[in-house]
Amino acid sequence: MKRNVILLFALTAVINSFAQGDPKATEVWSPVPTIVTPGKICGEAPSDALILFDGKNLDQWESVNDTTQAAGWKVTKGILTVDKTKGNIQTKKKFMDYQLHLEYRIPKDITGSGQERGNSGVFLASTGPGDAGYEIQVLDNYKNETYVNGQAASVYKQYPPLVNACKKPGKWQAYDIVWTAPRFNEDGSLKSPAHVTVFHNGVLVQNNVELKGPTLYIGKPSYKAHGASPIKLQAHGDKSEPLSFRNIWVREL
Ligand code: MG
Repeated sequence: MKRNVILLFALTAVINSFAQGDPKATEVWSPVPTIVTPGKICGEAPSDALILFDGKNLDQWESVNDTTQAAGWKVTKGILTVDKTKGNIQTKKKFMDYQLHLEYRIPKDITGSGQERGNSGVFLASTGPGDAGYEIQVLDNYKNETYVNGQAASVYKQYPPLVNACKKPGKWQAYDIVWTAPRFNEDGSLKSPAHVTVFHNGVLVQNNVELKGPTLYIGKPSYKAHGASPIKLQAHGDKSEPLSFRNIWVREL
């Protein structure tokens, strides 16, 4: 009888954790992507690119929390640094399909571990405030373990990267991304899902994967109709030192 009561309690705990939403339920920890040492990054903007950040100002960007406000992150010496007190920022322009290049640098003296170490993110289509949208994870995973579908260059909680091509903190790193936006029928149903290809420091890490919907921290993703959307950068709430970006450009396809 006592054993049955214990079992019942255990079962109830499991059911409750799902009912309240357990972020651990969608974490994947293995297999761990092989470590690959990348070569030199290269990302000079081609002639037909729209420059989103060239080191001068944030004219192409706005605050996500209040889109009438300027993006409040800091630009110093040609570098954009996250200001966590100002929240996420996004492009003023909306995009459908595109090729995107951006570079980021995790501080050399970064602290923290797991998801709390240089966390940011590139949301390929921002579908609302907060972290709504489709996230390519930015995180320091140079000798820092976390769930593999949440490590750097993952499609967060959907696809781990094919390999771990992270450079050391303090080094500039690059994402080159090809994004195909999802399409929807007039009644709001899905016509074709989103696809993404990602190179991390020149190494293929996502090969035209089909997204299951926008990124979710808890639960299973599903699509909601939207059109052209801004590209968003994440001010993650972890306590580690803020990271920086430079050389961001996009080519509409
Ligand atoms: Mg993130």
